[in-house]
Amino acid sequence: MGIVFLITLFLFVLLLGLNFFEWAKSDKQYRFSLVNASVSAFIAQIWNLFIIYATSEKMVLIAYSMFFAAIDWILFFFFEFSRQYCRYEKKLFVLRDLLFVLFAIDSILLFANIFTNCSFDVNFVTMSNVSSKISKKLLYDVHLYLCYSVVVISFSFFLLRIAKSPKMYRIKYILPLLTFLIPIIADAFYVFGNLKNNYSVLAYIFTAYCLAYFSYRYTPDKLLKRTLSLVVGNTEDPIIVYDSDCEAIFKNDAFSTLIEQSESFETNDNKHFRTIISNILQEYASKKMTENLTINQEVSKDGETTYYILKFVTLKNDANQFIGLFLQIHNNTLEEKNIKQQRYVATHDVLTGLYNKETFFKKVEQILSFCQNEKFYMVCYDIDNFKLINEIFTRSVSDSFLQKIGAELSLLQEDSRFFCRLNDDVFALFSRTDSFDKNIFHNVIKRASNQSLSESYPIFAHAGIYEIEDYGMNPSLMCDKALLALKSVKGNFNRKIGIYENTMKARILREQQLIVDFPTSLRQGQFKVYLQPQIQANGMCFGAEALSRWYHHEKGLIMPEEFIPLFENNGLIAKLDLYVWEWAARKLREWKDKGLDTMYIAVNVSPKDFAYIDIYEAFTSLANKYEINPKNLHLEITESTFMMNLTEQISLIEKLREAGFPIEMDDFGSGYSFLNMLKDIDFDVIKVDMGFLTNTKDPNKAQKILQSVINLSQMLEVPMVVEGVEDESKILSLKRMGCQIFQGFYYDHPLEEVEFERKYLVDNR
Ligand code: C2E
Ligand code: CA
Ligand code: CA
Repeated sequence: MGIVFLITLFLFVLLLGLNFFEWAKSDKQYRFSLVNASVSAFIAQIWNLFIIYATSEKMVLIAYSMFFAAIDWILFFFFEFSRQYCRYEKKLFVLRDLLFVLFAIDSILLFANIFTNCSFDVNFVTMSNVSSKISKKLLYDVHLYLCYSVVVISFSFFLLRIAKSPKMYRIKYILPLLTFLIPIIADAFYVFGNLKNNYSVLAYIFTAYCLAYFSYRYTPDKLLKRTLSLVVGNTEDPIIVYDSDCEAIFKNDAFSTLIEQSESFETNDNKHFRTIISNILQEYASKKMTENLTINQEVSKDGETTYYILKFVTLKNDANQFIGLFLQIHNNTLEEKNIKQQRYVATHDVLTGLYNKETFFKKVEQILSFCQNEKFYMVCYDIDNFKLINEIFTRSVSDSFLQKIGAELSLLQEDSRFFCRLNDDVFALFSRTDSFDKNIFHNVIKRASNQSLSESYPIFAHAGIYEIEDYGMNPSLMCDKALLALKSVKGNFNRKIGIYENTMKARILREQQLIVDFPTSLRQGQFKVYLQPQIQANGMCFGAEALSRWYHHEKGLIMPEEFIPLFENNGLIAKLDLYVWEWAARKLREWKDKGLDTMYIAVNVSPKDFAYIDIYEAFTSLANKYEINPKNLHLEITESTFMMNLTEQISLIEKLREAGFPIEMDDFGSGYSFLNMLKDIDFDVIKVDMGFLTNTKDPNKAQKILQSVINLSQMLEVPMVVEGVEDESKILSLKRMGCQIFQGFYYDHPLEEVEFERKYLVDNR
């Protein structure tokens, strides 16, 4: 008896022990049912032992009665387990209560059987094979049917669930159902095997244990893995799932394909995924690592880079124990390219592909912070007349012009020489002084304009250079200084590069003040027109050039050299010229009234006037208004007038000539295509600046140039005025060479009108 009892006790303790932690943690209702069922089975087994080792009939009767009653409760609690496990826990309360009452009555009746023998009787036969037998009565059958029906009901719960559940989840119900067969089979052995003792109750304890194992551990694990496989199986990314020993338990098709493909471009040095994955798995398997891990992997094949993200995600149970992991490999190329694109857009000028201002400044700061021993320039470039380029060619053409410039400049960039586009047509260059090439930008725009615009439309740019002194200065301030230097030469035909000087700021401020003061100055007559006589070879004066002077009320006399380029840059020149032209017309009328209708005045027409004034209309209406002869109003035009809209300008000049205004070609030879100009345009006078033409170290060469220009004018039969003559010897030799008209300090400086009239009008009368 002792051994069987011990086995029973051992099984019971084992069952409780193994499942204790699970039960304690579990929030499942059915854990109580399982505990109760196993306690009942334990009690039944105790009574079973009494049946086997009983020594009196009465004892057998008591033991049997109690044994059957205990069986009642084993079955009731298995029923309860089944009901709850099969998710009827919130239903069928009435059935449960009914069964509870029936089992309770049955138990009472079985207990009563001890005294009344109402259910069954026992035949106690010692030394027989079958030690005890019962003779059943009606109430025993009731007890049996109750037991059977409860078993059937419990089974049907499982069967219903098996029928209704998706295939994957059936295992959850099949396993407990099969488990229930254990005590039934054990019972069958006892009944049909004619065994001496009924040990099937032990099978009930075992069943309870199995149920606990299946319901708490085995099935959830299995289902977890399957669910995982399903979840990851549906993603497009390659995925592989590993168990807690890092054995692969599932991989989707995408994963297999990727690994297959990767073999084709793996090299010995670069084993990509497989090496990386197996190294990391080792870490996980040895539990050195238990946390999630993300790795970025770039794979290059045929010059194309693919970006992957390897995501190792660990799986943990409720007790935070590592139970496995999965690896997801995401092809991140598209996102990566998008990010790169965004980064590019954030740091570059989209049109030209050069750095944008912010990035440029940052790079400048970086370089200056660790190259304190080297010298650098900040250079700004501005393309001349870019607005006009936009108008003449279409917007898209000028955009492609800028793009070409960007592409060309990009090729010239080095570690310490790089460009950016500051705005529209303004570029900046940061360069070490020793690698700076002053023609770099000019060459680039020349090539770009040949490609995008037209070869016959020369494009120029002005540059401003600031040599960096203070390395801690904000780079945008450095640009401001370079821009100041640029401003100082802007519009200047002969000087394309301005270099920043410390006085520049003061000058710019002065210029700004002059611009502000201009309208009042003009209204208050602070602009005076001076006349410089043009003298014939015979000493006679028939005309003069009108040159303006600004008698500023605060700053005193300001010369045209300062204010003319300034006004040309912002269109104020047109207002001044209209003023001067009107003054000249009025003066001519005055002289005409005095009977001096052979005297002429030559006025300057700035190339910028063409953009702001209808020049034909202006001069003809002046001639009409003052009733003067147009032949007395000479118009001095410079070559740069013809830089833009050549055909339009030519026809305008033609119209003015037809209206009777003589056209003088001013500063002849200062531009670079004067021969072309002479070919296309008819001038009445060529003006040659001595200072300019003879501005060479070699006097012989100067002499030859002068001579050839004189020859040219004689051949074309266009009279020539030589200006800037300062000494007699020059005049004598010029006269010998055939020059007829002179203008220069030798004869007179530009004079105030009263002075001019006193000196020259009287003589010619
Ligand atoms: P420009 O048209 O070439 O005028 C001749 C310049 O040479 C004048 O300078 C004159 O004073 C200077 N000059 C005359 N003889 C001599 C000489 O023997 N030696 C030297 N070294 N210089 C001589 P200015 O008056 O200072 O004018 C400078 C420029 O400003 C002019 O050059 C002209 O282009 C422009 N300018 C002057 N007034 C006006 C104006 O009212 N309107 C426009 N659009 N331009 C003007
Ligand atoms: Ca002139
Ligand atoms: Ca001139």
